[in-house]
Amino acid sequence: MYLNGMIDFTKGVSARFLDYTTYDTMSDPSKAGIERPTTPGQVVLQKALIRQLEELGLEVTYGDESVVHGILRSNTPGAPAVGFMAHVDTADDVMGNGVKAICHDYKGGDIALPGGPVILTADNPDLEDYIGGTVITSDGTTLLGADDKAGVAIIMEAMAYLVAHPGLPHGDVEVFFTPDEETGAGMDRFPYHEQLSKVCYTLDGGEEGGIESECFNAATVTIKIHGVSTHLGSARGRLVNALKVASVITDALPHSESPEATDGHYGYYHVGAVNGTNVEASMEIYIRDFDSAGFDFRIKALQDLAHAVAQVYHASIDVDVHVSYRNMDAANAAHPECLETVRRAAARLGISVRDEIIRGGTDGARMAEKAGVPCPNLFTGGHNFHSLVEWVAVDAMSRSVNLVLGIVEEFAARR
Ligand SMILES: [Zn+2]
Repeated sequence: MYLNGMIDFTKGVSARFLDYTTYDTMSDPSKAGIERPTTPGQVVLQKALIRQLEELGLEVTYGDESVVHGILRSNTPGAPAVGFMAHVDTADDVMGNGVKAICHDYKGGDIALPGGPVILTADNPDLEDYIGGTVITSDGTTLLGADDKAGVAIIMEAMAYLVAHPGLPHGDVEVFFTPDEETGAGMDRFPYHEQLSKVCYTLDGGEEGGIESECFNAATVTIKIHGVSTHLGSARGRLVNALKVASVITDALPHSESPEATDGHYGYYHVGAVNGTNVEASMEIYIRDFDSAGFDFRIKALQDLAHAVAQVYHASIDVDVHVSYRNMDAANAAHPECLETVRRAAARLGISVRDEIIRGGTDGARMAEKAGVPCPNLFTGGHNFHSLVEWVAVDAMSRSVNLVLGIVEEFAARR
């Protein structure tokens, strides 16, 4: 065991994080699948990360996939490889560029940001855990970008520590810094052919202690509705209004199975977009379900519903189902050592962890689906992602660095 208790990484990890927040890496969902990365600022940060990894002595590749792939070569023959992944882009729900991070020596109480928003302790009970430490926020006019630059900083700090302590045993340690996670296109292209690790972890979680190993199964169902247009004056019995068909389909979906009516393990249908005219309309409906049988049922139920409504209204429709990602718990179950390793490392370090579910997806879910590599999501210490009141506790980031090193150590011991 080489980690004799917790190491204080607060200085290093916060310095790295503050540096990364100065890069404008907001991604653009409207360019997802068209340009990669969707915004050029992401490449600027990725190039900086490549330089930093090379300075540390890692082997780095950066190909057409636009994914930074670094390898710290094993010093322990027989130890299995392990991977860590974080994304360089930030969300576009609120302005993500021009971030001016502020470090608060947190003494308790609400945090008023210069730009106006106030981080209320009433809404953020976890703040209390960080009294006496440093809490980082934006100035209140942008998000902070702890999602996921905290993850990038945690991984980089852990790599720097391993390089600075060459006597510490480790197998091949891989790092991946992906673009465009927030657009959902981050894993559209990934250098799977280069990947050594059979177990990987994303550092893209929130509150301290959270380990997310389950996510939704997710599909987007696109329904194209073809109406029948006539002169409105002589439309009786002939006109088929595509928008009306869309609205009937929308209303026929169970209201109790919507995102606003569900939480926990409950799945839902969500009409995300309706576009068009009375002649042609298209709908995008999101289906989410943790259970794969339930997921398949929802897809079939929606298809049947859409066809039935179309028949009643004499419209013709095309239905396209695109599965976005699947629940990664199957891959985790097939490799139980993946989560056991985290729990063992956390127990040794005195970090209390808890299992959480993601009512969404992660890049790790895509990896699990595509490559069969389990890839749970670990906490970074960030809160209120995608908002002006985002914050991250430096102490939590430091403990996350320890957890990464603890996981590396567990893998080294498995030779
Ligand atoms: Zn994220």
